[in-house]
Parts: sequence; structure tokens; C-alpha cells
Amino acid sequence: MKITILGSGTLVPDLARNSAGVLLESDGVRSLIDFGYGNVHQLLRLGITYHDIDRIYFTHHHPDHMCDLIYFLFSTRYPQDPRRRSLEIVAGPGFKAYFDKLMDAFNNWLVPKTYPLEILEQDEETRQYGDLQVTTKKVAHIEISRGFRFTDPNGKTMAISGDTDYSPGMVELGKNADLMILECSMPDDMKIIKHLTPTLCGQMARESGCQTLCLTHFYPPCDMADVLQTCQRQFSGKIILAQDLTVIDL
Ligand SMILES: [Zn+2]
Ligand SMILES: [Zn+2]
Repeated sequence: MKITILGSGTLVPDLARNSAGVLLESDGVRSLIDFGYGNVHQLLRLGITYHDIDRIYFTHHHPDHMCDLIYFLFSTRYPQDPRRRSLEIVAGPGFKAYFDKLMDAFNNWLVPKTYPLEILEQDEETRQYGDLQVTTKKVAHIEISRGFRFTDPNGKTMAISGDTDYSPGMVELGKNADLMILECSMPDDMKIIKHLTPTLCGQMARESGCQTLCLTHFYPPCDMADVLQTCQRQFSGKIILAQDLTVIDL
């Protein structure tokens, strides 16, 4: 599988760091994990349009993780070039009710007319979507929040947290993974509740036994702090500090 960080930032507007989003490509299928502000444009930079996404997984529905869904869904209705491909959205329990309210709030202008859209709620379980095996577990952020673990047919595994604080469920999802992507919101001395720091990320990576750790979801103070060195004190594997459009091949 091939992983591209679309946005390595947060809710803070930043030209260098768009809001949270990851593109996962496996066997010709394109999936997104989260879809924050700026991600539609990031996809365009990769030559990927609203026709080309097959499935979207949401870790939770804070705006910095989902707002470009609005942009995306409306664009699929472009009368000269409407989307035809079916679309699936996978998220935790409660997402369907939230999605219906969102459709309502926009007077149904976002409701697809030319393609099927299915919302699939997944709690703490494992399901198969195409060639990907997908396991979800609760993480420590908001009620709907779920972390994901993706396994491709070659046995390559990627786990991703979305937003979370220290979370045993996330450590479980990252067990011996080839890659674990964790949010790293703030430096240790500025920790905010329900989010991680470089030390906690390193600790979780060590406990999981993952091969490579990718840190993302950086608030601006992280760009001034020694995130890498702090994390390395906890975790001796490879650490990648995500930039927008960082690519990781597994
Ligand atoms: Zn966030
Ligand atoms: Zn959040």
C-alpha cells in the first residue's frame, strides 16, 4: 500500500500544513482517512479528482478532519461532469445521524444524484472492504472517535489514530504494524487534553512494537520544538515527521 499525507496540520489555518487527511492507495483502490480543509486541493495536486475516491474512513467528525467532505460532495454534482462511481463512508456509531443532519443543513444540495453513497458504521470490530482488512477501536478523544488498522493482502499493516490522548486501544491497533501514524498535537510542555505529545507518541509506538512511527497533526508550536529528539527517547524505531504530501510506501 502507498500512503500520502494530504494534511499534517490541525484547525489552525496554515499554508504549509493543511488539516488532517491521508490518502491510502492499495490495488488501484483509493481511500481517504479523514478529509480536512485543503485536502480536495491536495488531491488535485496529485492528479486525483472527485471521480477517483472509492471510500472515506472518518476517525471522527471534528471540522479539521471532515470539512472537505462538504466541498467534495457538492463538487460531485457538477452537471457537466457528475460523479458516477459509488462511494462508501466508514465511521463510528452515530455518524449516520450526524451525516443526515449535515445533508439537511445544506437543504439536500450535497445529496448525491448520480451515484450511490453508503454510510457504514463500524464500532470495535474487523471488516473487509475490497482487499483491505480494517479493524477499528475506540480511542481517547470524543465519543465517536475510532482508530483504524489496515492490512493489505501482502500482510502490510498501517494503523492510524486520528485525534487521541494516550489510548490502550490505539496501542493494540498498532501491534507490530509496519507503520503507525499518530497525532502529535503539542510539545510535551504544552500538552492539551485529549491529544498526544512527542513523549506519549514514542511511548505508544514502543508499547505497540511498530516498525515505523509517523507523527502528524502538528499545532504550530511543534514546528519550534524538538519533537523528533523527544520522541526518540521513547522509541528506537524509524520516526517520520509528516509534511504535507509526504509519501510512505509499504
Ligand atoms: Zn484534529
Ligand atoms: Zn478532534
